Amino acid sequence: MSNDKQRPEPRPGILGIDPYIPGESGEPGEGPVYKLSANESPLGPSPKAIAAYQENAAEIGYYPDGSATDLRQAIGARYGLNPAYIVCGAGSDELLNLLACAFLGPGDEAIYTTHGFLVYPITIQARGATPVVARETDRKASVDAILDCVTERTKIVFLANPNNPTGTFTPIDEVRRLHAGLPSNVVLVLDAAYAEYVRRNDYEAGIELVSSSDNVVMTRTFSKIYGLANLRLGWVYCPAEIAGILNRIRGPFNLTGPAIAAGIAALADKDHLEKAIAHNDKWLPWLIEKLTGLGLGVTPSVGNFLLVDFPDDGVHDMAHADEELKRHGLILRRVGNYGLPNSLRLTIGTEEANRLLVDVLGNFMKNGGKQ
Ligand SMILES: *Cc1c(COP(=O)(O)O)cnc(C)c1O
Repeated sequence: MSNDKQRPEPRPGILGIDPYIPGESGEPGEGPVYKLSANESPLGPSPKAIAAYQENAAEIGYYPDGSATDLRQAIGARYGLNPAYIVCGAGSDELLNLLACAFLGPGDEAIYTTHGFLVYPITIQARGATPVVARETDRKASVDAILDCVTERTKIVFLANPNNPTGTFTPIDEVRRLHAGLPSNVVLVLDAAYAEYVRRNDYEAGIELVSSSDNVVMTRTFSKIYGLANLRLGWVYCPAEIAGILNRIRGPFNLTGPAIAAGIAALADKDHLEKAIAHNDKWLPWLIEKLTGLGLGVTPSVGNFLLVDFPDDGVHDMAHADEELKRHGLILRRVGNYGLPNSLRLTIGTEEANRLLVDVLGNFMKNGGKQ
């Protein structure tokens, strides 16, 4: 044994990763707290999902069904997909990680866009691969810019559609053009975490494209509109070969039984889903109109959240706004680590939270926070 002790060293690239910063929950203070920082559903989960979860509590001494067969069948039935081409994960984050694990190593490159979801650079660097950032146009993914970034080292393109934190989306024609321009060995990952919220004729989550190609996958989650973020439940629809690859490397029991049961119950409760869609359809445009009316910059969003830009005048700026909102129990998300230092992202909340938010920001813009 030598005297100069060697510490365990991670692989190159790991220590260069900026850890993911989750949305704050807020400290229990005097008044109510409105958590608008993580794009969770203001309606919460379906009561049927909670009941299914509880009914499964007695089973936690046994290993779950490692292939989540019943859940894959329920998803397949709901979307008309072959369950054999569905792989479930502990949140779609796990599936993004598994895709990176399968296709990226040192020397490889993976592309995402300027304000793309920050899980992508983390998972790319965790594999020792190189993240390549394609510029956006008006905070929207640019297919031409992404294609310009492709080299013979490119292995994955990550596209969040709609994107978080911008809320913008890429029309399906553009997604098809992106796919057509990619070499056939590059995996196109369509991260459709907010697909259920989108009310646009020119949007598709990508099911057809996955079905008709060998190199496209679509990830989905129960964390957002289904209100099951705490369960960690996501799935990917992919070509048979890629499903075979992911099933080789995933944890053999990567989902819990109560989560599987709750996911199945959530899928079956169409009324709850419709309520969540209707709520967003009402309050997203309302908030866009009110906040724009206050003179704030609002990026047009098709999701359940809004990116709001504050004037950089030292009075009505993002940091002052955030403080003022917090004083009223409104917890938003700072997005400086997304290269958006003057913006806050807010989740569409309950009616009460939305009205309070507009009142607080209305006063703030009038009085500059000096009240
Ligand atoms: C929230 C979110 C996810 C989902 O994460 P889970 O791990 O399924 O909770 C994936 N992609 C984007 C862009 C998101 O905003």
